[in-house]
Amino acid sequence: MTTPAEALAHVLQAYADAPDDRLMIEATTGIHGPGVRTGLTMGDLRALADQQTPDPCANSGRTVSRWYAPHGWDTPAADIPDPGPYADGEHVTCPLCRRDVPVTPHATTERETGTQYVARYTDH
Ligand SMILES: [Zn+2]
Repeated sequence: MTTPAEALAHVLQAYADAPDDRLMIEATTGIHGPGVRTGLTMGDLRALADQQTPDPCANSGRTVSRWYAPHGWDTPAADIPDPGPYADGEHVTCPLCRRDVPVTPHATTERETGTQYVARYTDH
């Protein structure tokens, strides 16, 4: 089962690059004038998610990671720059609350598929 909050978080992640004015749920079209559409935009959904997020965010203290796998994903090494480990205090957008959160470097792990750089979200 998926809770409504989880479903909302999923939509926010899937459309992370969408602008705030993108209409996501259409309520009416043409009723308030020719071509006028009303409903909920990505900005509305983000604002609702902000109101739903408990303080502190559940991602506080959890890890986030990024990868460098120049030979593991069928991509020539020259096409993928190594992002390197997280810098202390580097900011990452939390996928749960969408806040810009500083992280602390945690680990660098060599795996079969590449290098995994791990950091922890600070309390937020
Ligand atoms: Zn968060």
